[in-house]
Amino acid sequence: MSLRRTQAERPTPAGSPVRSRRWSQRRRLAGIGVLTATTLFATGCSISGSASTSSSTPNSSSSSHGVTGSGSAAGSASGSPASPGAASAAAGAHGVGAPVVHPSCTRPPTTWKTFKAPDAVVPDLPELEAGTNHSKTADKWTYSASQVHQWMAKPQTAPKGKKLVFITFDDGPDSTVTPKELSNLEKAGVPATFFMITPQLQGVPVDLLRRSLRDGNGLDIHSYSHDYKYLFHGDANQRAAHVTCDYDWALAQARAVIGSDYDPSGFRYPGGEMSWNDLSKANAGLAKRGVVPIDWNAMSGDADAHMPTTIPGYVTMVKQSIAESGNPRVVVILNHDIKEKTAEAMPSILAWLKSQGYQFGIIS
Ligand SMILES: [Zn+2]
Repeated sequence: MSLRRTQAERPTPAGSPVRSRRWSQRRRLAGIGVLTATTLFATGCSISGSASTSSSTPNSSSSSHGVTGSGSAAGSASGSPASPGAASAAAGAHGVGAPVVHPSCTRPPTTWKTFKAPDAVVPDLPELEAGTNHSKTADKWTYSASQVHQWMAKPQTAPKGKKLVFITFDDGPDSTVTPKELSNLEKAGVPATFFMITPQLQGVPVDLLRRSLRDGNGLDIHSYSHDYKYLFHGDANQRAAHVTCDYDWALAQARAVIGSDYDPSGFRYPGGEMSWNDLSKANAGLAKRGVVPIDWNAMSGDADAHMPTTIPGYVTMVKQSIAESGNPRVVVILNHDIKEKTAEAMPSILAWLKSQGYQFGIIS
């Protein structure tokens, strides 16, 4: 059902040194290496536009969401409870609880039918904790995007004495695959964070979102358009205008379904922040909205040109990418909940992570 499915499966041009690109990409995220112009097809969603050497600086600006679940504060889904996170403290910020109005900017490109904002306060889904992207129960394993971003950018600041993993899914929700991933997570007793392409909310039952929240997962925004040319072409000012416009439309659409008090702090750029030219202005625009971009430092490889073909292959990809990240204490793993194969492999991936002592968190 998804446009993304086609894009994500687009093959890498023959002869491209995919592996070295992917590795250099990870290293950049871990603060070790420098991204080159040739990183594109290693990203979570294959790139339809062009890009060149990235010089963007990781956005370290704090959001109004504050720091949720600082290293000593938050527990894990499978571990002992800890003090609640602070994400709910953001309630009231950024128009939370306000009517879901049509963004003022021109609608970003999309193949989905036009979204009409209700121009009224939308009641929250019963499972949503107001001012957050998750349920009240999930406070115990929720970490702010700014905190996770910092740990990824500066691994030396990661909490010592524990290993944290954030399972993330991009490009959903999908009425076929997302339920399978929710079942995988439920059976393992762990949560994950879903970065959504919000027009796809029109294609899934609301009960799917309620279940996801009830199970302790986080719902973040990935994009409205997921259109690389719209988002990442032009100068820095144009990119900032389009990225923030896209975000505003996505947030409005999400609030029209999840409720006016839905307020995420994490955002994943289509293709990943690491793949694009200087996004500092775009990041500043996102920061004004209380949002911090979150990339990944490990992957199942489900959008990789050399994606695994067997379940053990997916587990091996996760192991290798964690080892290569140089940051094994805080791991953010890229997956896609539009990929059947990933859903088949996920139980084995989760079992391996648990066997390694990882605690599972979500991003606010
Ligand atoms: Zn994507």
